[in-house]
Order: sequence, then C-alpha cells, then structure tokens
Amino acid sequence: MIQINDLSHSFFVGKKGKEREIPVLTGISLDIEKGEIASIVGRSGSGKSTLLNLISGFMKPVAGQILINGQDVTQFNEKKWAEFRLENFGFIFQNFQLIPSLSTFENIALPLTLRGVSASQRKIRVNEMLGRVGLLEQANHYPNELSGGQQQRVSIARALILNPQIILADEPTGSLDSETEKEILGLIQELNREKGITFFIITHDDEVAEISHKRFNLHDGVLVNGGVPVEA
Ligand code: ATP
Ligand code: MG
Repeated sequence: MIQINDLSHSFFVGKKGKEREIPVLTGISLDIEKGEIASIVGRSGSGKSTLLNLISGFMKPVAGQILINGQDVTQFNEKKWAEFRLENFGFIFQNFQLIPSLSTFENIALPLTLRGVSASQRKIRVNEMLGRVGLLEQANHYPNELSGGQQQRVSIARALILNPQIILADEPTGSLDSETEKEILGLIQELNREKGITFFIITHDDEVAEISHKRFNLHDGVLVNGGVPVEA
C-alpha cells in the first residue's frame, strides 16, 4: 500500500549561491501493507515529520520513490496532490488542529461541507461518527470545552469522515496523559480492526510502537531496522 524506495531528502540553508546542504533522510526504504499499523519511532530531529511531509506531498524528495497503491506520488503536481490527499488520507496531529470557532459536530462535518455533501447527509454521517468515537453528548461543545482526549477523538472522527484508506498521524498521543493515551491507542486499534484502515504513525513513544504491526526505528535520518514485526 505504501512502498518507499531509497528515499532521500535534504534541506538547503543559507544565502543563494552559497547554500549549505543539510541531509535529513538518507536511503529510506520501507513497505507497509494494507490494514497494517506501522510506526516510525525516532528522537526529536531524526526526520520523522519530514518523512511524513514527503509521504503526504507537502514536500518533494531530493531522490527516491514513494509508491502509494502502486502510483509514484513524487511525480504528482499540486493539483493532483490536493485531490489524491482528499481521496486517500486522513490526518491526525499532536495538537489536534481543530477549528476553535466550530463545534464538535461542525469540525467533524467540515470535510463533508468542503466536498459539497448535503446537510441531511452530513447529519447522518456525522452522527454515526460521533457514536463511533463516543462523543454524542459533546456534539455541540466547542474545542475549548473538551478534554485533550476528547479533542483527539474529534480530530480522529474528522480524519475518518471521508472514509480514507490511510491515516497519517504525527505524534497523535504526544499531548495526552498516559491514561488518555491508552484510550486513544485503543480507539486506533479498534478502527484498524473494524475498518481495515492503514495507520502510519510517527512517534517518539514506545507505547505507540506497541500497538503497531511493524515498527521502524529512525536514527539521524536513517532507518536502522527494516520494519521489525512487533511481538504480540
Ligand atoms: P520532532 O520529534 O522534534 O518533531 P522530527 O523527527 O519530526 O523531530 P524533523 O522535523 O523531520 O524532525 O526535522 C529533521 C531535521 O531537519 C532537524 O535537524 C531539523 O532541524 C531539520 N529541518 C526540518 N525542517 C527544516 C527546514 N525547513 N529547513 C532546514 N532544516 C530543517
Ligand atoms: Mg516532528
């Protein structure tokens, strides 16, 4: 489903004509199957967010291939990326990235609104999703009226509302206490089992790695293992 072949990326800093190259990822190859939870574990600065930005098309790699369902997405232009992202990916972030002026219901409905789905259909789909993530009673609350765990549930629901095949997550439990973290990881596992959604999670947290089918360790921009299956 996601296959990466010999991917490398550098940033170039400094004045024009005198740029310095800072290599950030080197020779990354990995393979993630449909329905897997995969985690990339690495310290701060190891290149995790850069890898996620490359996979989601927000950056173009200096070298290498990223195949998603067999298509080399590194060749896409921005228009193609915008469509592809909406069709295939849901995103979850450490800081939730909810819109403060919208209620729980409206935040989750947003991708449907942008797609022009009718109000009556939105109501059906969002209510079903609210039930799924356990937020029916918080439908009319605003983000600042929700706990961290509840806010992350809203963002997971929003990520799922267009039925993506792949969820890309950058430190999804990074702002949560350990009880709430367990709860959110449990929800991720349930969604993976029930709907066969593929999760690609980057983290520095071993607890997240424990729910994964495959774990990759990223060290200074290099994968130091090839996706070791996580012991059950
Ligand atoms: P964290 O856990 O702190 O989020 P990370 O593993 O996500 O870290 P990245 O954000 O991918 O790390 O950054 C990897 C390296 O690339 C770091 O050394 C960072 O300073 C460098 N870097 C990231 N973005 C840029 C940029 N736009 N220009 C120059 N260097 C950058
Ligand atoms: Mg990061």
